[in-house]
Amino acid sequence: MRATVMYGAGDVRIESVPDARLIESTDALVRVTRACICGSDLWPYNQMEHSETGQRMGHEFIGVVEAVGTDVQTVKAGDMVVSPFLWSDGTCVFCQEGLQSECLYGGRYGFDDVDGGQGEAVRVPQADGTLVRLPVAADDALMPSLLTLSDVMGTGHHAALAAKVGPGKTVAVVGDGAVGLCGVIAARRLGAEQIIILGRRPDRIALAKEFGATDVVSERGEEAVERVRELTGGFGAHSVLECVGYEESTVTALSIARPGGAVGRVGLPQQESIPTTLTTFFDNVTIAGGPAPARAYIEQLLPDVLDGTIEPGRVFDRIVPLDEVPDGYRAMNDREAIKVMIEL
Ligand SMILES: [Zn+2]
Repeated sequence: MRATVMYGAGDVRIESVPDARLIESTDALVRVTRACICGSDLWPYNQMEHSETGQRMGHEFIGVVEAVGTDVQTVKAGDMVVSPFLWSDGTCVFCQEGLQSECLYGGRYGFDDVDGGQGEAVRVPQADGTLVRLPVAADDALMPSLLTLSDVMGTGHHAALAAKVGPGKTVAVVGDGAVGLCGVIAARRLGAEQIIILGRRPDRIALAKEFGATDVVSERGEEAVERVRELTGGFGAHSVLECVGYEESTVTALSIARPGGAVGRVGLPQQESIPTTLTTFFDNVTIAGGPAPARAYIEQLLPDVLDGTIEPGRVFDRIVPLDEVPDGYRAMNDREAIKVMIEL
């Protein structure tokens, strides 16, 4: 089969790889129909050292179950399914708490003998704990939005929950990428009264407004902090969603939380320690977040996607076939595209 392999920074290839196949009795074999390129794929795209063997890529996909192992009970051949970006057993102590991203027996796609999502098929370990059956046909117009449940919509929702978004709250979203935009959707869905998006690219800001952003702050650094204070009665936001992970964006996020507020971090931190430790200490600011338990959120968010209440699939502004995935990486890296969908 064909799949996406990264050999180093800027070096993404579509290659023939061994066919995905069932190995464990708890596996499902999924033929991928749609996948996507993630903002987190751009970290290795910019930084990866050259590798002779390459790294299989992709962790967000929808597909059709082709076969299941003898112990799989919740999905069967022919089912349309979505996978969260991590696989998990669904039964360990953390899965039972709804924190499947900390599963004791789970893992990541593209590592060891598990396929990446940006390819023709994937062996999904722990299929019962991982996959969610979708009550739609493959060509359903809802597919883009359903696909976001594998990562970005769940991750934006996680940021909002970690930041304690609720009715009447003022919310600031740092980052206008796909996760930040989904964070706006999540904040509105959870009843936020004011939603400030921090970003500056016109197409993304326009989408953020359509998703429910009430204010835009295009300044950066200290000026951005001042602007948010002006917009929030001088105190800062109750809830701040950090959807980037850079040191500068993290400092901004922590600096615009009001005393007693909360910051939900979902951008992969690019620095070793949490900045502004004294300010956030004296301001009683909660700092929370991490990898989203997307598996738990698929079931929570699915009804709102199915009835059209939320349309996170609008973050996809480019569609490529598998052969053009390398150009999809380039387009996302050059900020030509917000998020790229792969159609197989
Ligand atoms: Zn588990």
